[in-house]
Amino acid sequence: MKVKGNLFIPSKVRYVRGEKPNVDCILCAIREKDKKVESLEICRTSQFCICANLYPYNPGHIMIFPLRHIEDIREMKKKEAAELFTLEIISLEILDEVFKPHGYNIGYNLGPCGGNSIKHLHQHIVPRFSNELGFVDVITESRIIVDDPRLSLSKLKNLFAAKLKK
Ligand SMILES: [Zn+2]
Repeated sequence: MKVKGNLFIPSKVRYVRGEKPNVDCILCAIREKDKKVESLEICRTSQFCICANLYPYNPGHIMIFPLRHIEDIREMKKKEAAELFTLEIISLEILDEVFKPHGYNIGYNLGPCGGNSIKHLHQHIVPRFSNELGFVDVITESRIIVDDPRLSLSKLKNLFAAKLKK
């Protein structure tokens, strides 16, 4: 991970302290383009939206979520699951190209004990780098050095738009 002057305090810090946007569901609000939430939307299909994580653990941390408000993967329909898999593959290809990570964590946080601060189902794709800070350092906010996700947004938007057209 290269850190070149793009340091910022992730708004996760503010979020954790209780300054949450006043909406029922932040992902439904992004779907509805509600002005109360800062959307880092990259692209959407008829069933899913992909956005950069406003509170990234690492550069290139994105989330894929169904437009439909569901809270568990067991509520997903087969055609949604099939599309999600395709979107995952496209995401990895694009993140490889842009961020050149050395690995990924992909997953869901389900339920209140799963570390889930947003109920609306969403899949995290987190690029991992051999020289990064420890995950724990970042999530416990003992050390915070994260790229601003806004910086890579337009590049990601263009790449996803091109891939989804195919
Ligand atoms: Zn929702």
